[in-house]
Amino acid sequence: MKACGICGTDLHIFDGTANSNPPVILGHEYAGTVCEVGSNVSRFKKGDRVVVDPNINCRHCYYCRHGLVHFCENLTALGVHIDGGFAEYSVVPEIQAYKLQDNIPFEWGAFVEPLSCSIHGVDLANIQVGDTVVILGAGAIGLMMIELVSFSGAGKIIVVEPEEERREIARLLTCDLVIDPIEEDVRDITMKNTYDGADVVIECAGTPGTARLALDLIRRGGKIIFFGVCDKDVEINIKPKEIYYTELSIKGSFINPYTFSRAIKLLSLGKIDFSKFNIMRFPLDELLQALECHKERKATKTLLIPGS
Ligand SMILES: [Zn+2]
Ligand SMILES: [Zn+2]
Repeated sequence: MKACGICGTDLHIFDGTANSNPPVILGHEYAGTVCEVGSNVSRFKKGDRVVVDPNINCRHCYYCRHGLVHFCENLTALGVHIDGGFAEYSVVPEIQAYKLQDNIPFEWGAFVEPLSCSIHGVDLANIQVGDTVVILGAGAIGLMMIELVSFSGAGKIIVVEPEEERREIARLLTCDLVIDPIEEDVRDITMKNTYDGADVVIECAGTPGTARLALDLIRRGGKIIFFGVCDKDVEINIKPKEIYYTELSIKGSFINPYTFSRAIKLLSLGKIDFSKFNIMRFPLDELLQALECHKERKATKTLLIPGS
């Protein structure tokens, strides 16, 4: 293992609020080098650079056979249910490994999994050329969304983020307007910068406040993507009538069905750039400090790098 990202899911598992299989080794965003292959492995050899899709589907349940592998009834994940990437070595089924081109650094390989999830979210948003898209939250996911949404032809990208450092990174990417929700009136500014609200809102913060805010920023007939993960007991108020008469579309975006190869391709083509992200690196034996760093939102992305 050369680099493994820390994700909000790891914290939820660590504090007991997300489903896992303790004492499993966590870490599901990782890249490394093949050091040994099993006797039936044909596509990889020792020395290959690889990145791991952690989500393993069974290929025979109802959902797998209907092309909805992310709803697999036997879904297991490396780093969640079986040992993953917070380790020097990881055993990975051949089918979960993808070649990582030489021009992609291992550290960026650790971004492939969250990038593949973000691509799924943008696919579901079905952005039309010229659309105004509001992105709520400019953590690692929100920042990747900025880049993906701009490829998708958005005319205007508005980002809402309470932390100045994250707003600064958002400004360095391709967004048109950055709003501080603490100091500024998000709805007012959005309405002034759109015809009747955003065409698309992508919620990447996972809080009840931003989930509700998405509904307040969307135009009639618009599309909302719930990408951020709220705590499981969180509820928000929605009046059915506000969906009815606005013909609102609200979609969740869950993990990364069939998007892993595209994520690698975008990196290989140099279309996605993480160089402006604030990345913090920890050696494996400082996992607790690394989790704390992620929790305190000190970095855009926290990585574990063995031997660093
Ligand atoms: Zn994750
Ligand atoms: Zn299945």
